[in-house]
Amino acid sequence: MTTPGGGDRWTIHLSAPDVGPLEEWYLIAALRSGWIAPVGPDLDAFEREVADRVGTQGAVAVSSGTAALHLALLGVGVGPGDVVIVPTLTFVATANAVRYTGARPVFVDCDPQTGNLDVALVAEVLARLHACGQRVGAVVPVDLFGSCADYTALLPVCATAQVPVVEDAAEALGAIHGGRAAGSFGRAGVLSYNGNKIMTTSGGGMLVSDDLALLTRARQLSTQAREPARHYEHRETGYNYRLSNLLAALGRAQLLRLDGMIARRRQLRDRYAKLFAPVPGVTLLGAEDRDANCWLTVLTVNAARSGWRVEELADHLADRAIETRPVWKPMHRQPAYAGAESLLTGAADRLFADGLALPSGSSLTEQQIARVLGTIDDFLTERAGRATS
Ligand SMILES: *Cc1c(COP(=O)(O)O)cnc(C)c1O
Repeated sequence: MTTPGGGDRWTIHLSAPDVGPLEEWYLIAALRSGWIAPVGPDLDAFEREVADRVGTQGAVAVSSGTAALHLALLGVGVGPGDVVIVPTLTFVATANAVRYTGARPVFVDCDPQTGNLDVALVAEVLARLHACGQRVGAVVPVDLFGSCADYTALLPVCATAQVPVVEDAAEALGAIHGGRAAGSFGRAGVLSYNGNKIMTTSGGGMLVSDDLALLTRARQLSTQAREPARHYEHRETGYNYRLSNLLAALGRAQLLRLDGMIARRRQLRDRYAKLFAPVPGVTLLGAEDRDANCWLTVLTVNAARSGWRVEELADHLADRAIETRPVWKPMHRQPAYAGAESLLTGAADRLFADGLALPSGSSLTEQQIARVLGTIDDFLTERAGRATS
């Protein structure tokens, strides 16, 4: 599936939207209902349905995951002068939302096996920051590529330090850890419905929480902080962050198909695992997590053992119009965050150097999957031949 108007070079994308007749039906029904504004029955229902799925008391649908992060941070009281602990291996939105509040991020390295926040380092950085009297407004774990962070270890550390957790589950809707759903682990959780995520509203996000006061305040801030009055009354600065009722309708259709879409991504991951199993030096990131939503399958290549570098595989696939992508460039390497404080082990740098996200979309046809696997197989055969000749 090609993205219209992109003029792009890929015939097989990393993670294309997966929409069909059900989405079309929901969207048209919403359009015909007359609820076109960012208010309406689909919006209310979408919030309720996602909250039920995640297992939280409520939800607030907003225009992006980034907006949800911003409101979540405000909701737990993050403000100017605070620091917020953020994994260095994440999408820039996690760090940007911290800056929107006037706080600054402190970056922490990841576990080399999962790519998720290194909990021992979080404990260390919390102790250090508290020792020098620095207020820590929040810890923001990211459920990277659809695998939950290690909440069994992390939550007690944050509770002891009395620092609230805001879970960035933008990549992880549908994932589970210890029987609980991604999004439900912090004081507030954040989901994204961006076009390349596990399910999409074309663009959108959601704040989920058990804290009804936090949700009420977030909902109010998302609608320009308008007070309940007949005229326009505002006591504080709000934001225009509410999600459209039309997009919520799209989201409701996607939510009905979420389990099927996760199953397809998981099947694809299993096929990659089988293909790479006999290849020395290649591992799949977080491969042992059976409760991941399998948003993106990422392989890591130890070139000393494989005999080839991950860029060579990426080039081979790119030459055949198959899209791959390096893992997130760590925040401590981003010019926008030059000089930010960070506690590093080199794990994120290594994953950035050795990792590659493979086509993982649930809308890939069997023919497309066969083409991806066959193209990788050709590459591996050629490299194996070269190594023995
Ligand atoms: C996608 C993503 C976001 C932001 O979501 P948007 O809906 O694109 O604003 C935040 N954090 C992470 C880790 C993401 O992958």
